[in-house]
Amino acid sequence: LYVEHPLGEAQTVPLDRAQAHYLFGVMRQTVGAQVLLFNGMDGEWRAEVVEVGKRGGTLRCAAQTRALQMPPDLWLCFAPIKKARTDFIVEKATEMGAARIVPMQTDFTNAGRIQRDRLQAHAVEAAEQCGGTFVPEVAELVRFAALLDRWEPARRIMFCDEALVSAPAGVRADPGPWAIFIGPEGGFSDAERARLRAQDHAQAVSLGPRILRADTAAVAALTVWQQALGD
Ligand code: SAM
Repeated sequence: LYVEHPLGEAQTVPLDRAQAHYLFGVMRQTVGAQVLLFNGMDGEWRAEVVEVGKRGGTLRCAAQTRALQMPPDLWLCFAPIKKARTDFIVEKATEMGAARIVPMQTDFTNAGRIQRDRLQAHAVEAAEQCGGTFVPEVAELVRFAALLDRWEPARRIMFCDEALVSAPAGVRADPGPWAIFIGPEGGFSDAERARLRAQDHAQAVSLGPRILRADTAAVAALTVWQQALGD
């Protein structure tokens, strides 16, 4: 269970209404039950239910079961598409071990805004589901140009370029940090492509001979990256 509260030896953890409903109403847990908690910072802790209420409850941490497992320093930068497909990208990026998810507005991006809280909640759910101890941060929507204007020079870029249809998939071995760039349904504009290619440490990468939808491309790119450089 994900909680927004510090975890540590004998630490008590209050539950909000939604968490209490899930734990006591849906999962039928009661006083004395053991629950695994994580908050994205302190690893995973075994905690005991000490108080059950309709609008809340309290757990007490007993012992740490796993240390925090930080993912590699990998960002997924993508242009938000339709709601359900954007949710999918956030969910899969979390499962695939992205450390930061960066929605960006490009020349051909349709979405003018995102519901960051909803996307962050998807990341939490995905981390819970895959047994992670870390939750990637979903950043605010940022303009492509603004993102690259303040790019940290050391961060490598894996630029997924569907124009490279005949090139082999793959990414050069390099410890990073890294960022994957995926374009919107209409792809990156010529100016954006030129900007990405001119960036220090940018590598244009093919994901195979077919043009993939942006959500498929995100998963494929994360897989290619994880196979070459993940741990
Ligand atoms: N510009 C294209 C068009 O309108 O024909 C399609 C863009 S594609 C739907 C969305 C994004 O997925 C691209 O900008 C690219 O980043 C990535 N992508 C899709 N297929 C790819 C491939 N075969 N290799 C590398 N990247 C790919």
